[in-house]
Amino acid sequence: MSFWWICPALVTLCTLFNTQALRIYPPNEVTLLDSMSALGDLGWVAYPLEGWEEISVMDERNTPMRTYQVCNVLEVNQNNWLRTSFIPRGGAQRIYIEIKFTLRDCNSLPGLSGTCKETFNMYYYESNNTNLWFIKENYYHKIDTIAADESFTQVDVGDRVMKLNTEVRDISNLSKKGFYLAFQDVGACIALVSVRVFYKKCSMTIRNLAQFPDTVTGGDSALVEVKGSCVNNSVEFEIPKMYCSADGGWLVPIGRCACKPGYEEKKDSCHSCRPGYYKALLTDTYCAKCPPHSFSIQNSSAECTCEKGFHRAESDPKSMPCTKPPSAPDNPITTVNETSVIMDWSPPKDRGGRSDIMYNIHCRRCQSETQKCSACGSGIHYIPRQFGLSQPRVLVTDLLPYTNYTFDIEALNGVSDLSTYPKQFISVNVTTSQVVNVILKERRSKDSVTLAFQGPEKSNDIVVEYEVIYYEKNQKEQNYTVLKTRSNFMTVEGLKPGTTYVFRVRAHTVGGQGIYGGEIELETSTEDIIAIVDPNQITILAISVAGGIVLLIFLVTCFFVSGRHCGYIKAKQDPDEDKMHFQHGRVKLPGSRTYIHPHTYEDPNQAVRDFAKEIDASSIRIERVIGAGEFGEVCSGRLKLPSKREIYVAIKSLKAGYTEKQRRDFLGEASIMGQFDHPNIIRLEGVVTKCKPVMIITEFMENGSLDSFLKKHDGQFTVIQLLGMLRGIASGMKYLSDMNYVHRDLAARNILVNSNLVCKVSDFGLSRVLEDDPEAAYTTRGGKIPIRWTAPEAIAYRKFTSASDVWSYGIVMWEINSYGERPYWEMSNQDVIKAIDEGYRLPPPMDCPVVLHQLMLDCWQKCRSDRPKFGQIVNILDKFIRAPSSLIELANSSEWQDPSIPDSYPVTTLEQWLEALKMSHYLEHFTMAGYVTLDSVMYLNSSELGRIGITITGHQKKILSSVQNVQALGTQLQI
Ligand code: AMP
Repeated sequence: MSFWWICPALVTLCTLFNTQALRIYPPNEVTLLDSMSALGDLGWVAYPLEGWEEISVMDERNTPMRTYQVCNVLEVNQNNWLRTSFIPRGGAQRIYIEIKFTLRDCNSLPGLSGTCKETFNMYYYESNNTNLWFIKENYYHKIDTIAADESFTQVDVGDRVMKLNTEVRDISNLSKKGFYLAFQDVGACIALVSVRVFYKKCSMTIRNLAQFPDTVTGGDSALVEVKGSCVNNSVEFEIPKMYCSADGGWLVPIGRCACKPGYEEKKDSCHSCRPGYYKALLTDTYCAKCPPHSFSIQNSSAECTCEKGFHRAESDPKSMPCTKPPSAPDNPITTVNETSVIMDWSPPKDRGGRSDIMYNIHCRRCQSETQKCSACGSGIHYIPRQFGLSQPRVLVTDLLPYTNYTFDIEALNGVSDLSTYPKQFISVNVTTSQVVNVILKERRSKDSVTLAFQGPEKSNDIVVEYEVIYYEKNQKEQNYTVLKTRSNFMTVEGLKPGTTYVFRVRAHTVGGQGIYGGEIELETSTEDIIAIVDPNQITILAISVAGGIVLLIFLVTCFFVSGRHCGYIKAKQDPDEDKMHFQHGRVKLPGSRTYIHPHTYEDPNQAVRDFAKEIDASSIRIERVIGAGEFGEVCSGRLKLPSKREIYVAIKSLKAGYTEKQRRDFLGEASIMGQFDHPNIIRLEGVVTKCKPVMIITEFMENGSLDSFLKKHDGQFTVIQLLGMLRGIASGMKYLSDMNYVHRDLAARNILVNSNLVCKVSDFGLSRVLEDDPEAAYTTRGGKIPIRWTAPEAIAYRKFTSASDVWSYGIVMWEINSYGERPYWEMSNQDVIKAIDEGYRLPPPMDCPVVLHQLMLDCWQKCRSDRPKFGQIVNILDKFIRAPSSLIELANSSEWQDPSIPDSYPVTTLEQWLEALKMSHYLEHFTMAGYVTLDSVMYLNSSELGRIGITITGHQKKILSSVQNVQALGTQLQI
């Protein structure tokens, strides 16, 4: 029985808490039951009947609210149960119960101290049965005893200050379909105003482009692992995972999704790339602009399409500009050596935007008469290989002799195979030969010479005949006579006595015509002397027809002078040498003095003995180190020979641990130097060979090498002083050329200067050809050449002559006048070769007299016969020295331009352009093919030029290089 008189306010309170309309649950809570929002009967069961009572009250908005109340405080042994209807668990393992209630303070109820309680109990019963009408009390599990935080008194009620308690309890690890809740009253005065049952969830969220669904929290404090699913247009990059915590929060995001190619991430979703943009990789965050020469016209592009004519290799990243195949290789240089050829070329001018340039070589064999070509077939060897060459050079060996070959050098890059256009190549025609390696025997008289030959060494061909051309040395080469013989010797008769003739021999074999061997100079005797010389097994026998005694004296002298080598000296023929001279020892045939190459001695020590004086080491005093040579240190010191005054000397020593070849080469320089005697050639004092270290003693040049000397004294000399140096060097070189010595490495660094500014030519090293010169670069033939100082024909095919020394002399002139400036400055060797080939020449150095620059230009004539001889140079310089007024006019270096390179000026029409290129005759070709404006010629290539009828390679080159300049400059055409 209820005692409403005790707590009448319980049924009318509630101004505080009807918030049904306003109730907003936290987003991560899922409500399973809310007594306040239930519209109809709650259907809860109360027993005994006089216990809990359902009482509807109105809130202040007149909305009915259901409450359960009990207040049997006057009676003992109360046990009143109120049980909810079935509450489905909704999959949750942990359920929260929030109850709101009021509880009357027992103290405010006088005389009830024995029976009144201030707590009640809450229970649950888990079940799959949704419709139980009865549950035994002892089946319930107690959740808790609930006490009020705030109880209220009558006074409180009167003041309408309600003390509403809210308590939340939870039950875990539920596993059945649902449960029932029960409230047990044991004698309190309670109004149960609201019961809300809910569970917590982790709300749907997107993290790292992965969507995580609403997730019910686990039981107790367990985390629930959840795998995310990638948002639209994204794919898993690394499995996306998160953990849903028991209180409904997401924890520890792992992994992620990424926007598919063609899409970029914006605010938790993936958006298409706009046209003109692309995104190739999952890992790229944003869409990027299409790289050069590509485009995209649609949304969501994963890559951009290459423009016509441009391609992307499979391995190219999509971010790389589209590229095209390269143009043809350029500037081929071939060096044919009998049946092998070395081909060098420059990389294509247009590399198509790539660096992976490769070259393929295709070989055709062509008949000269019919011009018919066929594939070369096997048997030919390419070093390093025929296809896929990474360097612009190849050596082709084992070609047939006397055969015309055409090699197409094809340039390729990573996109060549993707292009439908034919690969660009340059063709090189080569005719092989076989040098007539003539073993010469000569026999001379006053008016005849007998020569004997032996066929080409390497050829198996049978020699059909030998052809000899000869002319008088001082006559022009044009006045030559040709003689042929089927036999292997020939006597050339009707010669003038005491006259030097030049002979050259070639063989005709069944394979074809050979090429002429080197020049052989022979002088007819004034008397009847017969010499038989065999350059491979040279035996010099001087027979005086005038009397056997002379012969005898000669042989005896020879024996003593040259030791056992006198009569038999093996000479090795150097194919690069232009002139070979077959004099030996101190035996000199009549005529001018000629330099003898130490290699013509079988025993090089003999050459040293013949040409260099042995010095006793005790007469040398080494003082200090002044430089480093190829073989060891260079020192200065003093030399005191018996009965001579002490002199300063330079001492080159051969470092310890040398090889026999090094010793030979080291002393070779002395054997050469020892043959010279000229004020402008470094003088050899002697050698020390009998004790170690082996030394070469030369005169001491106080100012060291000319290049560093000039740099040290920049601008400090008068023109006449500079002329004096030039004159000295020219004079020394005249002497060398008169002795038929070709220096090959004439450069300021190889000139020494003494205290009187006298310049002397030095560096006659044997390992030159030029291994020791830091300026020397490897050339096509494997030898090293100081490119900037060397004449084009010597670079291209090793035609080293006194005329090529003249070219180098011109460079030395330039070095002297520019006080040691580096020729062609920092241009690369390859560019120097190209520039020279195209007619470029060094401009006059600052303050250089016009006449001196003109002399330099003369030395740099392309055609070597047009260059002045050293004798002429000496004369010209002498004239300048005698008449210094000729030096007044200075060349203006800033205005000077190579006459072969025309001025630049802009052109605006096709006609003007062709006219400027001196190609006006092609105007019709262009217009007929539809090229009428200058813009239209911008993308011409050689095959297109061929198609419109411009087939001459030189003309194509000229046109294309002009076009390429424009492309490179991106400006108006400049001619
Ligand atoms: P070389 O091995 O001849 O190139 O000599 C190396 C360096 O030693 C030269 O660059 C000079 O500086 C110095 N040198 C060589 N010979 C002489 C010399 N006769 N007088 C003075 N210095 C010399």
